[in-house]
Amino acid sequence: MREYPTFVTHLECSMTGKTYPADRIHGLSDVGRPLLVRYDLEALGKAITKEALHDRLEGGFWRYREFLPVRRSENVVSLGEVMTPLIDMPQLSAELGGTLIVKDEGRLPTGSFKARGLALAVSMAKELGLSHLAMPTNGNAGAAMAAYASHAGMRTTIFCPEDTPEVNVSEIELQGATVYRVNGLINDCGKIVGDGKESVGWFDVSTLKEPYRIEGKKTMGLELAEQMGWTLPDVIFYPTGGGTGMIGMWKAFAELEAIGWLTGKRPRMVAVQATGCAPIVKAYDDGEEHAPLWENAHTMAAGIRVPVAVGDFLILRAVRESGGFAIAVEDEAIQEAQEEVAKREGLLLCPEGAATYAAYKQALADGRVEKGETAVLYNCATGLKYPMPRIDRALDRNQPIDYAQFKA
Ligand SMILES: *Cc1c(COP(=O)(O)O)cnc(C)c1O
Repeated sequence: MREYPTFVTHLECSMTGKTYPADRIHGLSDVGRPLLVRYDLEALGKAITKEALHDRLEGGFWRYREFLPVRRSENVVSLGEVMTPLIDMPQLSAELGGTLIVKDEGRLPTGSFKARGLALAVSMAKELGLSHLAMPTNGNAGAAMAAYASHAGMRTTIFCPEDTPEVNVSEIELQGATVYRVNGLINDCGKIVGDGKESVGWFDVSTLKEPYRIEGKKTMGLELAEQMGWTLPDVIFYPTGGGTGMIGMWKAFAELEAIGWLTGKRPRMVAVQATGCAPIVKAYDDGEEHAPLWENAHTMAAGIRVPVAVGDFLILRAVRESGGFAIAVEDEAIQEAQEEVAKREGLLLCPEGAATYAAYKQALADGRVEKGETAVLYNCATGLKYPMPRIDRALDRNQPIDYAQFKA
């Protein structure tokens, strides 16, 4: 990979604005909040043009190297990322009267958009000389970290809730990590990672507890803008767990605006959660800046079963600044949405992705989204990783076949 100029100037506490030096190992800020990477945007804007970017051969998110923190190309850990497609939904758009587009993140390595964040976190870990990474996960983040870290020759230890889907636990271990099932939720797993830092010496790669996963997820926003010709849709529906993607995209739009690349307005950002775990929706409805822990969290959409988020105020800020909203959908609606989109559009969404379609329909019905608006729905993982209903329809080739049945 060729060398690119980099523009990181410092890191900044997202709560207090206190600055921290770049090129050092950092976790959370002094006040226990996420650190944001800051760039010399003026210089960045002068160093690259949209046209030069357009002509780049790299297909995936490493094409945005100037917007990313990795200084040296030898530290870039890549598993062959692609620019994820925008796929229209002609049948459902016509029926509902909107313009519905799915950004299908299931095409990334390890089958989910966690690849974006973890590729950056692992590359920066390599650049900063770390060798043992640990994290709590609901599945996809652990798989992405295991894959990228193994590719870089690093050790990984991963903790997941005991009811994490079998496929996730298996893929994590197969891709080189040591994975433990824990009798608790993701925040309980997170505590084990945090408490072990001192004695084991591993580095905590929990959502937002290191600064670089946000930068990786930021590429979702850069990529969307480039794909749409540097304009953005009216509204984005994002399945929100820890919120890295929501915060990252909002940061992407701010940075693109600062260098003058965006034409038109920013989109309304909609945080989608499940009614069984909706701390951000509750805080949004209550007008609060922070979201207290959600008790007894449950939903089939494991990726958004996050009872408490350290970046809660950043998610809420993005939603409010954008003029968007937060919305919760029932698990039954998620399941129906998954079936409807698969049957009608041939797109097998993950439950979290299906939640965005369920939320879109709900928002269209209650008037928060209007017909004719362009909505981008994030499908964050391939539906193939999740349990599917068994089909028992069969045919006995030794009996006479009633061909009339196939015409109906
Ligand atoms: C992690 C995850 C989410 C939530 O993403 P955040 O950016 O952490 O809010 C949603 N869906 C799936 C499938 C995930 O793996």
